[in-house]
Amino acid sequence: MNELVSFSELRKSSALQSDPTKWDRDRVPLQKQRNGLSADPLGRIIIILKMKIFIPLFIILILFSGCSSIQVLPDYGKIENVLTKIKTTSRFTYYMSIDDSVQIERNDAFCSWLLNKLKIELDGRIIYYKYKDTNQKYQLMGSNGNALVIDNRIHTILDYDNHELVHVLVGQYYGNPPKLFGEGIAVAHQVNPMVGDYVPKWGRRPIDSIALDYNLKSQIPSIDSLLSFNQFFHYPENITYPISGSYVKYLLSSFGYNVFLLFAKECNWTCTISETKKIFKKVYQKDIEVTWNDWKNNLNKKIDP
Ligand SMILES: [Zn+2]
Repeated sequence: MNELVSFSELRKSSALQSDPTKWDRDRVPLQKQRNGLSADPLGRIIIILKMKIFIPLFIILILFSGCSSIQVLPDYGKIENVLTKIKTTSRFTYYMSIDDSVQIERNDAFCSWLLNKLKIELDGRIIYYKYKDTNQKYQLMGSNGNALVIDNRIHTILDYDNHELVHVLVGQYYGNPPKLFGEGIAVAHQVNPMVGDYVPKWGRRPIDSIALDYNLKSQIPSIDSLLSFNQFFHYPENITYPISGSYVKYLLSSFGYNVFLLFAKECNWTCTISETKKIFKKVYQKDIEVTWNDWKNNLNKKIDP
């Protein structure tokens, strides 16, 4: 885990590249589809079975069912016909509308910082599709959330997207762990290295402060519910995301990056709750419940400014 990982390794798994869980921040339309699907008999059967083998099928059905405009793979020719302004740096190729812009230096500063944290070396470019708004994004690539990642491509309406950059690099080099960890590591890195701001925030508030508030109100969901792919999305994202980020931030500061990344390699998003716990214990040498409680206790002691 100390060696640098090459970019060629990045593309080793086509299954990973087409992993529909990378459809990030499109949770609102996905949730709508899920609700629609649950009223469908086939959807109900799949949900009731809750078997690992059905989870990818379930998600693919979510993407396709009832909303023909959502595609697993966008038409990149169509996108690049409209996003004709191209900026290339050593790490990124940006596509945007002629009257649109991105924060090149800020994205680059973040990318450098993150590559160092993850101990990886980029030997290819990240493709960054910048849309003017959710409407343009929907028209061009069929998904109307703020942002999502498909393999090494970021589709976003943001001119600076640290969150999705984390998904690209962690996902491509290490894997896609369960949402608590996958979203957690992305939120835990919502910082701005260009100006020396390393306090991760959700909205404008430090994530630890938000988590502490939920903890004091006993509103933190159970660890088991957050380890379940389906249940994770039953909670509002203003709860799950800062909580996941705060917990993963605690794991990273207490146990380091290597162990987290090893866990991400071994436990992907299709792991059941019990499989996740088993792998976590093997990698961390601790029960996940112990670290969950330690994190909550730690919130009371140290809060970011
Ligand atoms: Zn995300």
